[in-house]
Amino acid sequence: MFKVLSSSVKLGSHLRRPLQQQLCGRHIASLSALPETHQMLQKTCRDFANSELVPNAAKCDREHLYPEQQIKKMGELGLMAVAIPEELGGTGLDYLAYAIAMEEVSRGCASAGVIMSVNNSLYLGPIAAFGNAKQKEEFITPYTTGDIVGCFALSEPGNGSDAGAASTTAVEKGDHYVLNGTKAWITNAYEAKAAVVFATTDKSLKHKGISAFIVPKDTKGFSLGKKEDKLGIRGSSTCQLIFEDCVIPKENILGKPGYGFKIAMKTLDAGRIGIAGQALGIAQASLELAVDYSQKRIAFGKPISKLQAIQQKIADMALRVESARLLTWRAAWLKDNDKSYTKEAAMAKLAASEAATFCSHQCIQVLGGMGYVSDMAAERYYRDARITEIYEGTSEVQRLVTAGAILKEYAA
Ligand SMILES: Cc1cc2nc3c(=O)[nH]c(=O)nc-3n(C[C@H](O)[C@H](O)[C@H](O)COP(=O)(O)OP(=O)(O)OC[C@H]3O[C@@H](n4cnc5c(N)ncnc54)[C@H](O)[C@@H]3O)c2cc1C
Repeated sequence: MFKVLSSSVKLGSHLRRPLQQQLCGRHIASLSALPETHQMLQKTCRDFANSELVPNAAKCDREHLYPEQQIKKMGELGLMAVAIPEELGGTGLDYLAYAIAMEEVSRGCASAGVIMSVNNSLYLGPIAAFGNAKQKEEFITPYTTGDIVGCFALSEPGNGSDAGAASTTAVEKGDHYVLNGTKAWITNAYEAKAAVVFATTDKSLKHKGISAFIVPKDTKGFSLGKKEDKLGIRGSSTCQLIFEDCVIPKENILGKPGYGFKIAMKTLDAGRIGIAGQALGIAQASLELAVDYSQKRIAFGKPISKLQAIQQKIADMALRVESARLLTWRAAWLKDNDKSYTKEAAMAKLAASEAATFCSHQCIQVLGGMGYVSDMAAERYYRDARITEIYEGTSEVQRLVTAGAILKEYAA
């Protein structure tokens, strides 16, 4: 399947650097199916994560620090706009590359992973897909470098899964719209210089009344609300966005009026591949830590890796990681080849996020007491993993999407 991809893939200029041919031993099984360019990308991202993200991840989590320098370096590497065309300042790679990069970055630091994911697929993605030339120039190119980031505001205090019930209003007045309402849980909100915001122009039309707007942070009437204190991904910000008589010129509408819900759903389909990548990174890191520790920890006169009870855990973790990775790559491949991928993206996100919670849970168990304290990364993986089952559609919602598609396929 992936061979077809290799002929159409080009490595972005930021990533064109001398790369060692030797591959990391732990990854050979999963790498064997990938085109060479993607293997090189994986190696570049893995080296970067090991040298720049892993050493900073605990501090970033402990002190709730946005990893500014690391995000800038990710921008230099082309990781803040992986699948955005080169003429707009992006790296011009495909979604398979994006999924691989998301996994490797998140293996090093899940906070950096979500910051990257929101900028790439939730902010730049819909503007690249639905924006006009002027919007792309103003709201894409400056956001590709890692110096500034964007955010995506769909959820509200009163509705998350039921996104069609948006109550933030956009009232048309001459050459502009006036926005009023509150958006909740918005990742990157604190640092973002612009937001893609969803608001209803006619609540009685439900999801068909929703439109998408590009709103620069410095617009009058746009302010930040509460910054959340979170269980995990604590290096990324999560805040409310408040709109009070916020005047948006009509030229800032994204796509056509009334197309906002469609834009949001298409954006989330793609975003779920990125979050699957993030979850895989956390799961892989948990597996590697559990394996490493089990080979060093001696109990009853031998390494605990010799105990079958521990080996069972390692096998179960590896099984979930490898199968979720294949689902994720399949969803990315379908998107890259212009095939329908809504169901596959939902399945990938579901499998990968449940793999992350399972593997981080098992990792703590393998480490025993050392898994429970912050001297080791296991407890951070456990906290970071949890959100992957909630945002961009909860696990329950991914099951609804999957079952809905399957029932339709079988009815046809
Ligand atoms: C750290 C963090 C970052 C986030 N970042 C963003 C962001 O950048 N932008 C953004 O717009 N949003 C963001 N969100 C919001 C996130 O997408 C929502 O929290 C999520 O979609 C769930 O919505 P909710 O919290 O309102 O839960 P609810 O929708 O109230 O769901 C509560 C429970 O009911 C279940 N449920 C709801 N409906 C159904 C159903 N039909 N069938 C079965 N079960 C159902 C859910 O699965 C869940 O278990 C973020 C959230 C968090 C915590």
